Amino acid sequence: MSKVKKKVKTIKIDLDKCNGCRACEVICSAFHANPKYSSNNPARSRIRMIRDPIRDVYLPVYAGEYTASECMGRDKYVIDGREYDECDFCRASCPSRDVFKEPDSGLPLKCDMCEDDPPQEKPLCVQWCLNDALTYEEREEEEEEEVKLEDVEIGLESMVDKYGLQKVMDTVARMTKKE
Ligand code: SF4
Ligand code: SF4
Repeated sequence: MSKVKKKVKTIKIDLDKCNGCRACEVICSAFHANPKYSSNNPARSRIRMIRDPIRDVYLPVYAGEYTASECMGRDKYVIDGREYDECDFCRASCPSRDVFKEPDSGLPLKCDMCEDDPPQEKPLCVQWCLNDALTYEEREEEEEEEVKLEDVEIGLESMVDKYGLQKVMDTVARMTKKE
């Protein structure tokens, strides 16, 4: 396998600075609306604010990978005396909860670091976080070249998990006939 250079993009989250304002959710869902900026709905955001003001918990979490099945075990974290619920830190689009799923289709949502043409200077959630709870960093790393699943394959895989292969194939066949 050959080595390739890849750019690693990181958003550092400072929990002490987050006040739960949800500006990050608003701009992320607006940026990904179709057409762009035509609506905003936090349920479509690829960052979600886990918020529990009574326990002083404000936790921004980014949407990560799609998973077809939920975990067999769960974790609880206590940090600085604050207890976080099971799954709070998890980034997966998973059947056990509603976050990180497109509300109409149920398709998994994943942060794409605001991929845009021309590229954004920084991800929009970082630009909109006036409390500096989110900081963008970039570095280069070498890695083995591998074949990655395209977004469309991940979306199809989740539809097949949800509705079954036959139903998805029948739907595609029906749509193709209409064209
Ligand atoms: S980086 Fe972009 S896509 Fe990812 S959560 Fe922030 S606004 Fe959304
Ligand atoms: S915009 Fe910043 S302060 Fe507001 S909820 Fe998001 S991460 Fe927290």
